[in-house]
Formats: sequence, C-alpha cells, structure tokens
Amino acid sequence: MCIYSYVLSKLYRLKDTLNAAGHYAATGGVIAATAAIGSPYFILGAAGYVAYKSFNAHKGRKNYEEFAEDSLRVHPEKHKFSPNLGKMAKTLYEKSGLKKGKERIHGFRVDAERMIRNGQDTNPLVDSFKDMFNKEARLPNAQVMGLNTPLVMITEPLLDMLTCEEEEAVLAHEFVHAASMHLQKSIPQKFMQDVAVNANTITFGATVVTSTFSAGLGGLATYVVGGALAQAGIKATADSHDPHLKLKIGTARGALALGIVQLANPAFLPVCAATVGLSMGAGMLTKSFSRSNEYQADRGAIEYGANPLAMITALRKVNTALHKAAGIPEPKDQPFIQRELRNLFSTHPTLERRVAKLSDIARKAGFSDAEIDNAANGELQYDQHSTYSNKSPKAPKRRGRVFDQDGNIEKHLIVA
Ligand SMILES: [Zn+2]
Repeated sequence: MCIYSYVLSKLYRLKDTLNAAGHYAATGGVIAATAAIGSPYFILGAAGYVAYKSFNAHKGRKNYEEFAEDSLRVHPEKHKFSPNLGKMAKTLYEKSGLKKGKERIHGFRVDAERMIRNGQDTNPLVDSFKDMFNKEARLPNAQVMGLNTPLVMITEPLLDMLTCEEEEAVLAHEFVHAASMHLQKSIPQKFMQDVAVNANTITFGATVVTSTFSAGLGGLATYVVGGALAQAGIKATADSHDPHLKLKIGTARGALALGIVQLANPAFLPVCAATVGLSMGAGMLTKSFSRSNEYQADRGAIEYGANPLAMITALRKVNTALHKAAGIPEPKDQPFIQRELRNLFSTHPTLERRVAKLSDIARKAGFSDAEIDNAANGELQYDQHSTYSNKSPKAPKRRGRVFDQDGNIEKHLIVA
C-alpha cells in the first residue's frame, strides 16, 4: 500500500468516527430534551429497561452468529458463478486487515450435512435460523455479520447475476463495513434511540394520566354530558341512520374531554407533541447514521480497489431484480416527495443517491461522462456463465419480508 492511499484510508476512518460522534451527540441531545420535558428518572428507568432487553437480545444474537459461523455453507474458492472468488477474498482480507487464516466467503444456504456432524440437526432453536437463512439465500443479497468475527456473506443468485468486477465491488463494500466496525458503532446509537423512545413513551403516558387526573371529574363529566349533547345535536340535524354516527359522537366526546384536560393542564398538548416528535427524531437519526455508513462503505470499496462503475451496475442489478421479484415499480417511477420521504426513514440511501455519489467518485477517478452515463443508465450486461439475464428475467420469487409496506427495500438489503 503506498503512503498516499494509507493517508487516504486513515482520513476515511477519522471522518467515519467523527460522523459517528456527531450522530451520538445529536441523539444525546434528544435524550437531554426528553429529560427536560419529562424527568431524569424516566431516562434512568428507560435506560435500565433497554439495558435488560439488550442483554437478552445479545444472547440471542450470539446464538444466531454462532449458528451462521458453524452451519452456513462456505463458498468454494472457484465457484461456478465466480471462478475468482478465492483470489478476491484473499486480496480483500489483506486490504481490510481482517482476521487472517479464515479467508473465506460464506453463502446464506445452510449446510445440512455439517449440521448433522455438529449435532445441531436436532436442536429446535436452530430450526428458525435455518428457515430464515434458506429463505434469504434465494434472493440477491450480501451482508456482513458478527460482532467478534466478521462473516462476509453473499448469496448464489447474486454471484450468478454479477460480473467479476461487480462481485469485487459488492464484497469490498461488505469488507469496509466490517473494517470500519459499522455494526459495532451502530450499537450505542440504537441503544440511545431506544432509551429516548422509551423515556418519551413514559413521559407521554405520565402526562396523559396526570393531566386527566388533574382535570378530574370535570373532564369525565364533560365526556359524558358532551357526548350526550353531541348525540342529541347530531341526531337533530342529521339523518339518524348515518353509518358514521357512532364515530362522530366518539370524536366529539374525545375532543371535549381533551379540551377540558388541556384547560386543566395547558402543557398537555405541547408535551404530547414533543414526546412524539423526539421519538421520531431519535429514529430518524439512527436511520441517517446507517445511510451515512452505506455511503462510506461505497466510497471505501473504491479505496479497496473496486471499480466505481461496477459498483453502480451491481446496485442497479440488485435493485431491478428485487423490485421485479416483489412485483412493484422501481422507486424512480414513484413521485419525488414519496421518494424523498422514503429516503428519510430508510436504512439505505435510494439507488439514485448512491449512483449519484459513485458517479462523482468515478468522474474524479478519470472515467469519462459517456462511460459513467452508460453505467448509470445503459443496458445491464451479464456474464456468459450467468443464468440470469435482463432479457429473460429469472427473478427470484418473493419470499419473506424483504420489502416494507411502501415497497422499500429494508435492512436485509441492498448489499446490506
Ligand atoms: Zn452496506
């Protein structure tokens, strides 16, 4: 490694760390605001609860990771869809400085024979893991998991649809995630988010209870009397067979009772709105942190020697295949506002954003505008060995929950 690239990669890590610190600080600010409108005791209570939950989740995670390490198939060095897989893995393990001696790439499919040999085939705990991995193995996917020993994983359908250069880009992206310890850095962020959300829920609940109590019988009486008045009014002025009558009376009752509670405690509505806002803010910070890690992994992959144009076409292939599999339109065909809102609440940036950043990197690296345009918009090319092609799409069937309600590709993907 020459000194120039050494400095570059060091800078990259400093930036990475500063970014994490910025997100932690902002989420800490959300917690401080939560304490200010509620009570520091709520924060302590929430922190205790989240710590307890996290401890249990950590045990589950350990089991899950051990299962993956022991029972998932390891790809051969010369894979039928990827003849250079072994060489690529070796280079990337060296560049990233990850654990040597175990230079292998895992698949997602469970190795049944190995499970029997390990005596795991009769363990009911692993049955759910087995199903989950086998389901994911049918989709184009890559990820890195493991807190102690990073496990780099790529599915066969993805190896099948990518060219060698694209495989290198996708794997390099995963190695950057591991080397930059993105998984580990996301833990304090998620912890703080959970503390903020739980403490805000307590503040919200406490405000509702105490304000309703302080409004006392007045609120209750208004609820009953107001409801009766509303009922009479609605009956007198409208068709009594109105199918929405019950709903209207309920709404009128609620509004009147809320009005009384708000009179008794003028802070009621502002506090409720603030707690909801702060919870949402904490969630959005976590998503934003994840998205910035994705950008860094894309950038870092280029530093590891990946071709930025291959990264672009790899992302496009995965995106196309997944949307085809789910039978939903690609995000570029969705309205602008919907796309932007979706981006704000996603763990991964939209394809357009990733392609735009990678295009900038490619331009700086000396690729021509025509080459970049071809990678970003041109027809996708598939290897000769590939059984997958754009013209005769053999999109994997949709299995499991890969998309959320908005058709957004969630955490499983892309190139996680
Ligand atoms: Zn990623």
